[in-house]
Amino acid sequence: MAAAREQSSERPLPTDGGEGQSVDVRVAARFAAQQAVTGALLGVDTLPVRRDAGHASVTSSASAAGSVARDPHGSQQGTASPSRDWSSDPTRAARHEALQTVKARYLADAPHAAFGYSFTNLVFGEGDPAARLMLIGEAPGAEEDRTGRPFVGRAGQLLEKMLIAMGLSRGEVYIANVLKVRPPNNATPTIDEREASKRYLFEQIAAVRPQALVTLGLPASQTLLDSDETMGRLRGIWKTFEYQPTFFAPNAPSAAPLSVPVMPTYHPAYLLRSYTPENRKAVWSDLQKVMDNLGVKVTKTNQTP
Ligand code: URA
Repeated sequence: MAAAREQSSERPLPTDGGEGQSVDVRVAARFAAQQAVTGALLGVDTLPVRRDAGHASVTSSASAAGSVARDPHGSQQGTASPSRDWSSDPTRAARHEALQTVKARYLADAPHAAFGYSFTNLVFGEGDPAARLMLIGEAPGAEEDRTGRPFVGRAGQLLEKMLIAMGLSRGEVYIANVLKVRPPNNATPTIDEREASKRYLFEQIAAVRPQALVTLGLPASQTLLDSDETMGRLRGIWKTFEYQPTFFAPNAPSAAPLSVPVMPTYHPAYLLRSYTPENRKAVWSDLQKVMDNLGVKVTKTNQTP
């Protein structure tokens, strides 16, 4: 059962970036380079270009968010600060508050206590509390356990590149896992662990209320969809996540019933391990469906933002 997730692929991820230029030029160059790299990673020759108007429709309120200077191109390998001040944006402030409610419930209930293993940090989730896109993984790995942040290891680096390929950045989506603590040896979460943890994930989704969900890999996809189908059968087909939240006051916006489209796709760690043209194409095709849902356009890779 100990299926090592991230450690299993040692393929080095491409690096990019340049020094000695203005920040804007460097950011633009890095973004263009990452798009090309991601195109190569995913085996595709078309990638989205961020256009101010189109992009704003995805992230308009994110750009007005809080007192933190927004990094329009994401955290670049996981350096974005997870603690942001949303107080100047009522929608985000309310959803952040709702997330805090879920976190407090999780901490009080400590469902992981029954798992009987030790961990360094709880990895609750991070990102825009009103993100239109929420991505769900299975459980923290070593780097996530060390930092308390989801998807910051090798799989996280690929996930960031996938987001950039989609014309999005890490800071404008919300990322969480089914399990909030790292299983020993990166073991695949058991059914019992998933069952004990899922309610908190579902309430977390109710707090964020995304327009679309992407489940990364089998444990997340099966948990959200209450399915025992294989990944090969689940991926690439829109499903719906239905849920009636229970953690919030009856009239609170977070308490309204949820019905959110879900796109299951392969986990980036799996992609790193099984780096075949078929898998890369499949993931890119799944992500393009999500981009369609979010209204993000696809154009040629060689254009700059
Ligand atoms: N894999 C996951 O599923 N989640 C993480 O946070 C990191 C790796």
